[in-house]
Amino acid sequence: MTNRKNKGSKKSVKKQNKHKGKQALQGSKKKHKFNTNPNTHRKRHGGKSVTAEVTCSGLTNEGKGIFLWEGKELEVENLLPGETAEVIISRKGRFTKTEIKRVINSSEDRDIPPHSYYYESGGCQIHHMSYEAQARFKQKTIDKLMKPFGKPEPIITMDHPYDYRNKNTMTFGLNKKRQVICGLYAPNTHQIIPMERSLIHDPKADEIIQTIKGMMNSFKMQPYNEDTGRGFLRHVLVRVGKNSGEIMVVLVAASSMFKGKNNFVKALRKAHPGITTMLLNVNNRSDSMVLGEQEKVLFGKGTITDTLCGLEFQISAKSFYQINPIQTEKLYTKAIEMAELTGEETVIDAYCGIGTIGLVASQKAGKVIGIELNKGAVRDAIRNSKRNGVKNARFYQGDAGEYMVQMAARGEHADVVILDPPRSGSDQAFLSSVTKLKPERVVYVSCNPETQARDMKYLIKNGYKVEEIQPVDMFPQTAHVECVSQLILKDS
Ligand code: SAH
Repeated sequence: MTNRKNKGSKKSVKKQNKHKGKQALQGSKKKHKFNTNPNTHRKRHGGKSVTAEVTCSGLTNEGKGIFLWEGKELEVENLLPGETAEVIISRKGRFTKTEIKRVINSSEDRDIPPHSYYYESGGCQIHHMSYEAQARFKQKTIDKLMKPFGKPEPIITMDHPYDYRNKNTMTFGLNKKRQVICGLYAPNTHQIIPMERSLIHDPKADEIIQTIKGMMNSFKMQPYNEDTGRGFLRHVLVRVGKNSGEIMVVLVAASSMFKGKNNFVKALRKAHPGITTMLLNVNNRSDSMVLGEQEKVLFGKGTITDTLCGLEFQISAKSFYQINPIQTEKLYTKAIEMAELTGEETVIDAYCGIGTIGLVASQKAGKVIGIELNKGAVRDAIRNSKRNGVKNARFYQGDAGEYMVQMAARGEHADVVILDPPRSGSDQAFLSSVTKLKPERVVYVSCNPETQARDMKYLIKNGYKVEEIQPVDMFPQTAHVECVSQLILKDS
């Protein structure tokens, strides 16, 4: 963040914070306060607790504030470097829990949160930082991790770093007064933190969810109770095609017996004429998965479409689809630029999901081979390929590492390997096959730069050098950072 490009964006970022993203939430600022009641705290964690005045010396990779206490480095959520605060520290056995009681002097990087419950909801770990400070924090994380390989480019930020999620879920339940509530689970629990609006959800999606909550009493629809197994509605999932404007509403229920279904659908459509399809998903599982197997279309096609980099994708309730399409376009454009395609190349799109990167790359490549473990995603990739009239892409279901080992054993060649593995990164089988296949370029897209750095180290030891490292802010307000790197074969 020391370069000109980012300095230039400083003003506009501040402006966005003040005028755009939180505009809809204005007026609720006063409501913000930290959890100041140590008794609540004691009750929640048990054990012994003390309040200490501490000063924050830095941030962890998850965006938590680091401070020193009795010679030990501890961390606490929602504290920024340079800030002094009263922190409640409780010990239970080997575990130490920390919670802010009061910030005594706040940093100029602090952004006043519009709702106190954002602090507890886990989803937005760093929304208390101004967007400029978030970008600096992510840049620093990437710079540190990638230091052995070169100097990363300035992070690609988002113009309006709010409201971006195209997939939004809220969970339903009853509070102590037996009123219907909906919101997100507190981290690592099944306790619902009531929430009307999330900074990063699509605003229309949150509006629809609130309408559903308001309709439940008159339709005698009970929220599901995990302890008793009684009730009906567990979650509502709203998917929005950010470019197409299409909206899918999925009611996730404990049973398929949906009394008053037609009237419910009619009333919701009347309130939100923009809804293009509605589904009932039946989930009687006891784990944390939102969606169950069984699905019934209540109206419309049961899917929505959206465009990404000029291609059209059909999305079902269960499809994997990048949640921030505006930044995804920037990420894919960069990844394809790094592939340096001329129209001749054989490109491997490993860990391809529903084939988005590969299909976009196919426009500029000789041929594309996509590999993906998830059967449903491969089906979507093939369907999307036909939908867009793509003739030079093939998608295979299987383990990317195994597929590459077989390709290497058959002596096949690839010019470019693009990989976008899950958070755990790639594996030995995959990486060693890359070094056998010897593609001229490897484009590594990652949502976890730690495992990316580990895998890049292997490739560098085995004949590759790093040309470019580009962080992209795909998940503003959260501590997650995406990064795409270009590696080239040294003797090519
Ligand atoms: N490139 C896609 C998806 C990236 S997410 C996109 O941008 O949308 C990572 C994908 O890797 C997931 O779809 C997951 O199902 C898949 N995956 C996980 N382990 C895998 C493995 N061993 N082999 C192939 N694919 C795998």
